[in-house]
Amino acid sequence: YRFYTRDMNARGEENLVLLDGLRQSLDASMADDGGAHGFTLLYQPKIELASGRMFGVEALLRWEHPEHGQIAPARFIGLAEDSGMIVDIGDWALRTACRQAMAWRAAGLPPITVSVNVSPRQFEERRLVERVAAALADSGLPPDGLELEVTETLIMRDLAQSIAKMRTLQQMGVSLSIDDFGTGYSSLSSLKSFPISRLKIDQTFVRELADNPGDQAIATAVISLGHKLKLRVIAEGVETEAQCAFLRAHGCDEMQGYLFSKPVPPERIAALLLEEPCQ
Ligand code: C2E
Ligand code: CA
Ligand code: CA
Ligand code: CA
Repeated sequence: YRFYTRDMNARGEENLVLLDGLRQSLDASMADDGGAHGFTLLYQPKIELASGRMFGVEALLRWEHPEHGQIAPARFIGLAEDSGMIVDIGDWALRTACRQAMAWRAAGLPPITVSVNVSPRQFEERRLVERVAAALADSGLPPDGLELEVTETLIMRDLAQSIAKMRTLQQMGVSLSIDDFGTGYSSLSSLKSFPISRLKIDQTFVRELADNPGDQAIATAVISLGHKLKLRVIAEGVETEAQCAFLRAHGCDEMQGYLFSKPVPPERIAALLLEEPCQ
C-alpha cells in the first residue's frame, strides 16, 4: 500500500484516503448501533406544476469523512461504485429512505413518494429485488410509496436483464424513473419497452432553458415523447422563474430544484408538508 502510493499522483492518494474513510463509515453503519457513521440523507421536494403540491421527495446521500468533513457525492459516489461499496451504502440509503417515508406517514402527514437513486453496480447486484422487498417490509412502507431512479446507461449495460428486473419491481408495485434523461445512450426504440412511469429531464438541459433554443428543443421533445409514451415528465435543477414558466408553458408535469427548495433534512420536509392543504 505504502509502496504504491509513493508513485501515485495526489488524486490517487486522496482517493485512497476517501476509500479508507468510506470503509470505516460503512462498517459503522452496518453495525447499526445508532452511533454516528457519517452517512445522512437529505430530501428534495418534487412539485407538481399544475397544483404546486409536493407529491414526493428525492433522497440524496451526504457523507462526512471521519477527519476531512463533508465530501460531495460527485467526489465519493464514483469511488464507492468502483470499489463495490455502493451496494451496501445504497442499501443503507434505501432502508433509511423507506423508514423515513413511513415515519412521515405515521406522523399523520399527507403520503408522499420517496425516490432513491440506484447506481449501476447496485442495480446489477443479484439480490437487488430482495433488498428492495426487505426495505419495504422492514419499514412498512407500501410499495407505491417508493420510486427508484435509474439511468439509461445503467439499463443499456444489459438491456434484457435490466428490463426483466424492472418488470419484477413494477409487479411489486415499486415505480421506476429514468434519471438524467437525454444524457445516456438508450435508443428511442428501446425506451418504449422500459417499464417506467417517469422521465427526468437532466439539469444540463434546464440550466439555459430560458434562452438557449437547443435546450428548449430538447426539453420540449422529451416532454412530448414522454407524454406519447404515457409517462410523467419531471425537470430537475429548476432554479429560476423563467425556467419554471417555460416548463409549465410546454406541459412539463413536475419540477424539482432550488427554485422551490434545496435538499433539506427530514424535519424540514415534515414542516413543508404541514403547510400543504390536506387532501
Ligand atoms: P442526481 O440524481 O442527478 O441528483 C441531482 C443533483 O442536483 C443533486 O446533487 C441535487 O442536490 C442537485 N440539485 C438539485 N436541485 C438543484 C438546482 O436547482 N440546481 C443545481 N445546480 N443543482 C441542484 P447531489 O446531491 O450533489 O448528488 C449528485 C449525484 O450523486 C446525484 O445526481 C446522484 O447521481 C448521486 N447520488 C446522490 N445520492 C445518491 C444515492 O443515495 N445513491 C446513489 N447511487 N447515487 C446518489
Ligand atoms: Ca436522481
Ligand atoms: Ca438527475
Ligand atoms: Ca443530473
